[in-house]
Amino acid sequence: MIIRLRKDITSQEKKEIIDAVLELKYKPSEVKTQFGAYLVCTGKKEFDIRKIGFMPGVGDVHRVSSQYKLVSRQWKVDNTIIDLGDGVKIKRDELAILAGPCSIESIENAEKTIEHLVKNNIKIMRTMVFKPRSSPYSFRGIGIEGLRTVSGMCKANGIKIISEVMQVSQIEEMADYVDIFQVGARNTQNFNLLDALGEVDKPVLLKRGISGTIEELLQSAEYIFSNGNEKIILCERGIRTFEDAYRNTFDLNAIPILKEKSHLPVVADPSHAIGIRMFVAQMALASVMAGADGILLEVHETPEKAFSDAQQTLQFTDAEHLYECLRKTNALRNEIKYSMTD
Ligand code: PEP
Ligand code: MN
Repeated sequence: MIIRLRKDITSQEKKEIIDAVLELKYKPSEVKTQFGAYLVCTGKKEFDIRKIGFMPGVGDVHRVSSQYKLVSRQWKVDNTIIDLGDGVKIKRDELAILAGPCSIESIENAEKTIEHLVKNNIKIMRTMVFKPRSSPYSFRGIGIEGLRTVSGMCKANGIKIISEVMQVSQIEEMADYVDIFQVGARNTQNFNLLDALGEVDKPVLLKRGISGTIEELLQSAEYIFSNGNEKIILCERGIRTFEDAYRNTFDLNAIPILKEKSHLPVVADPSHAIGIRMFVAQMALASVMAGADGILLEVHETPEKAFSDAQQTLQFTDAEHLYECLRKTNALRNEIKYSMTD
């Protein structure tokens, strides 16, 4: 059960609500976010929910049966909108495109990417400066100094930044230079990191774990929300299965399922999913039809020379054609609107 508390609730009213919840043998946890205050109550007993709903100080009350609660559509029917400022939003109907190299390699590489994004009216750049790599000898990113420089360049060109944060200590040093924190697939269940990102008033894009279930992804999102941050974006990026003909099994099914289970926006990352350059475009288009609110793409001026993930990175000209096709496909999806969450 989720009880949304009114903004003008008094401490006496709150105490009475908590007492009523305890009497029902439910366990209340108080959650305060940038947008509201809630009591998330776990328990099993059947009772007439109106008993709580009529109490002074209660905004509304909803029964939520799933393990994850605040990220569930059972209490919040409206799709969450992520507002990055300056008119840049991640929301239903407006397909967001988030593009850039796997990792920013140099200032020159950043300059060329920004030029490409501006030319194509793309408002969000992948600016990865800390890279989780399977081998410790691989390129691990240009680090925080690089992020500071690139952030200035992006701001000057009206481009927002998404960048991966790998540990709690990086949050503070990155916060002024990113618009979205990315939590990578290797960190989806790093609960300390999720707790800490819950204390930040900045959007978090949470990737599905390498072999994580949809339920686990939603539970991880719940960590962020329940610590105070409602600005969460979910990302399907493929999971590890027995199939090895491509990089990951792209679970397109997860897109409508996540959107039905949660009010949070869902983006897809076909680059890391299929992991093969020549097929990224068609899987990106399929993601839009499946209901994705945004697409993450790896692009580079000379993909074959990219320091990481060269095999799945699109060349600028191919990417330009894809952006055009993505926008047309999104317009078609908006026109036909057959998804239950449209
Ligand atoms: C990335 O987006 O750069 C990345 C490392 O992706 P993932 O965490 O999905 O592997
Ligand atoms: Mn990559």
